[in-house]
Amino acid sequence: MRVLVVEDDEGISSGLRSQLRQQGCAVDVADTMARAWAALAAEPFDLVLLDLGLPDGDGSALLSRLRAQPSGTVPDAATPVLVMTARDEVPSRIAALDLGADDYVVKPFDVGELTARMRALRRRSVGRAQPRVVLGDVELDPAARQAWRGGVAVELSAREFAVLLALAEVRPRVLSRLQIEERLYDWGAAGVESNAIEVHVHRLRRKLGDDIIRTLRGVGYFVAAT
Ligand code: CA
Repeated sequence: MRVLVVEDDEGISSGLRSQLRQQGCAVDVADTMARAWAALAAEPFDLVLLDLGLPDGDGSALLSRLRAQPSGTVPDAATPVLVMTARDEVPSRIAALDLGADDYVVKPFDVGELTARMRALRRRSVGRAQPRVVLGDVELDPAARQAWRGGVAVELSAREFAVLLALAEVRPRVLSRLQIEERLYDWGAAGVESNAIEVHVHRLRRKLGDDIIRTLRGVGYFVAAT
């Protein structure tokens, strides 16, 4: 999941960046509304974590602007937004929800709760009610980042898990190598090899079976609808 953190408090944003990266998210940070908008206009994001008190204005203005965009473009009006507010900001929380925020957390928040809320938003945005993803005899648990094949646990790296989940969530749609890369690697990711996605797919097939991820030659990869 590619996440944009819009937060001017560096302590909070760098903590979030490292904790979310450990969870297998690609994380970019913007410390002003202007930088956040530039990021949203440049790359597709799966989720935005939005602070309301920003140096160049109220984060709710960014939210309104995002919701006024078309759907399915970059920036995409349908991008889930989770607002991060202070305890005494009840009116601005209400205003943000009414402007189109999907959820909120109150600072200081527990990162475990935040990531659970992020997974819930992700499920909703891809139209999935069940917490686990079932692909034939393969099962994925996004919360535990655990995979099973035929009921037997299979060890996947964080990136391998992210590739399979990205394809599974949009199945049977095809994702190009670039589209998968955008979900996996933020701007801070060092030394991404040009064949990184092929390597992940190769390892996933070795661990979970050749037919788990299909190739559409010259276009990309997909997971069949099950
Ligand atoms: Ca702030």
